[in-house]
Amino acid sequence: MDSVITIPALGDNLIYVYRYNRNDVLVVDPSDSASVLNALKQRDLNLTTILITHHHWDHIGGAAELKKETGCKVIGGDGRRIPGIDQVAEDKQILQFGNSGIEVVATPGHTSTSVCYYVQPSNANENGILWTGDTLFVGGCGRLFECNARSMWESLQKLASLPDGTLVYCGHDYTLENYEFALTIEPDNQAVKQRLSDVRQGGQSVPSTILQEKTTNPFLRSGTPEIKAALKMPRAGDTEVFAELRRRKDVF
Ligand code: ZN
Ligand code: FE
Repeated sequence: MDSVITIPALGDNLIYVYRYNRNDVLVVDPSDSASVLNALKQRDLNLTTILITHHHWDHIGGAAELKKETGCKVIGGDGRRIPGIDQVAEDKQILQFGNSGIEVVATPGHTSTSVCYYVQPSNANENGILWTGDTLFVGGCGRLFECNARSMWESLQKLASLPDGTLVYCGHDYTLENYEFALTIEPDNQAVKQRLSDVRQGGQSVPSTILQEKTTNPFLRSGTPEIKAALKMPRAGDTEVFAELRRRKDVF
């Protein structure tokens, strides 16, 4: 069985169950408890931990109920706004789960206390796994609710610096809309066209990879000459270009 089980919830949210030991799992951003409890029961899995990327209701909605039902522990980046939190995840901290080391990556931008979680590969033939919440989406990025463009751009750069093969699992499936927006910026980007047509034909949007995002995600590409030319901002700084893209997407 795959180590990551994806559970769609609330329309476009994505919940992830990660098996790190024989039957022990953690769950990332459980917006809903019933679907998670169901998945655990079907596969006879034991939930030990909830990892929260940020405090928005659509990422924590099922946490209290799951904690009550299973006695699991709640870990997140915000000690104040996540009800029932047991441990505050600190930037660069390594959380140990069985043989998996999971690194906390602080990624302020969407909220001031957003974090991503990176499962480090245990050998050279394995890819890391990254849960990005509402920071990085497949083909897009989260809205700037609590931080400025510079913070978000720096956070995205941290994620972009992870190995190309890293598997990216994001908090919502906004993929179609994101690629449609991407094509308004780069109409001739063949990789975006290909991905859009795959997803339109029912292809899976998660996981993506860091390499795929660097090739197709206009936000991660803010620093490239291609995007700067497309926006007619050839000499602008990366942050300025990113901010302009974000403004356009907000009204797309
Ligand atoms: Zn959010
Ligand atoms: Fe969300």
